[in-house]
Amino acid sequence: MNYPAVLIDRIVIKQGDITGEDVDAIVNAANPGLLGGGGVDGAIHTAAGPGLLQECRTLGGCQHGEARITGGYNLKARYIIHTPGPVYKGGNKRERIILTESYYNSMRLAKEHNLLSISFPAISTGIYGYPKEEACEVAVTTVLDFMKNENFVIDVYFVLFDRENTELYTSFLTSLKNF
Ligand code: ADP
Repeated sequence: MNYPAVLIDRIVIKQGDITGEDVDAIVNAANPGLLGGGGVDGAIHTAAGPGLLQECRTLGGCQHGEARITGGYNLKARYIIHTPGPVYKGGNKRERIILTESYYNSMRLAKEHNLLSISFPAISTGIYGYPKEEACEVAVTTVLDFMKNENFVIDVYFVLFDRENTELYTSFLTSLKNF
């Protein structure tokens, strides 16, 4: 895994609540109904306000691994990109592929909308049960692969809620810098 430093340096790891991010888009670890839920999804709907649910109702849902974009409503972020990650069922149900698609399709929407900054949570590592270490590798490498292969550079923040994810992401990013 060899990535140019100019790309790795666009990634910042933070611990905190993604709803307060002052970026062009935050990513929501949604569920396929797109009508809100627990975890980060619930926090985003609460912070964004009822306009978000109204817009989500018009979208007709979203498959695992796909992504949809809405307004940010009461958030500082202009947009919210909603993507249901995979539900982890042991690792043989295309979970890694679906998680990769969630990050890839979120980046694709960011590119289509000419966004300059984006914040991701650790998709699928809460209620959906994806092992955190592998999820971290998928998240960081998919974002870097997209920037490299699609010639699209953006400020990327990984906003982690818990200390375990924060430490995993920090050490994985450090290992890439020293590769
Ligand atoms: P999923 O169903 O995709 O697992 P969850 O919301 O349950 O989604 O969890 C995804 C990750 O988001 C977990 O690591 C969880 O700790 C984290 N999380 C929960 N609330 C927030 C928040 N307000 N900001 C950032 N991350 C959050």
